[in-house]
Amino acid sequence: MMFETLIRTIPDYPKPGIQFRDITTLLQDRQGFAAAIDALGQHYQGQVFDKVVAMEARGFIIGAALAVKLGAGFVPARKPGKLPWATIAQPYQLEYGSDALEVHQDAIQSGERILLVDDLIATGGTALAAVALVRQLGGVVEQAAFVIDLPALGGMQQLAAARVEGFALCQFAGH
Ligand code: AMP
Repeated sequence: MMFETLIRTIPDYPKPGIQFRDITTLLQDRQGFAAAIDALGQHYQGQVFDKVVAMEARGFIIGAALAVKLGAGFVPARKPGKLPWATIAQPYQLEYGSDALEVHQDAIQSGERILLVDDLIATGGTALAAVALVRQLGGVVEQAAFVIDLPALGGMQQLAAARVEGFALCQFAGH
């Protein structure tokens, strides 16, 4: 399946110069959504993950479906102040702005094998923040899955430098 044909591009959203890659058009397509989860599941077939850690908010949609497919638990990495229990936090830079991610302190046990999931990787700042959170809790994170990679922004190389192998279903040129 050509996943990029099911993804809508919105120029200058949320800021001038950003080409927003909108996965809602993929999600609303019953074959497309299922094919995306199947393709990610196939990629990780035979590998055992205790948990999927997915980033708010679009990562939750892909990550939750993939966790069920892989027989893994699901851990949300959320924006500050959203989780109700004790958390650890990690700030990061976005392609457009800065933010932080939090996970519950008891979300991951030492030695658990973690798959990171988000809709898109751009600079890799979000993914690296999630890697830092997982490692702070003693989790082992060597793989990260995305629907979209923007290779011009170098996020996959940043992940590789952190010893995490990234995989994406499709790529878009430019920013
Ligand atoms: P980054 O931290 O630079 O890798 O940015 C990735 C995060 O920001 C993901 O959670 C994406 O959902 C979001 N994001 C960044 N750039 C875009 C874009 N061009 N279109 C859609 N989402 C984006």
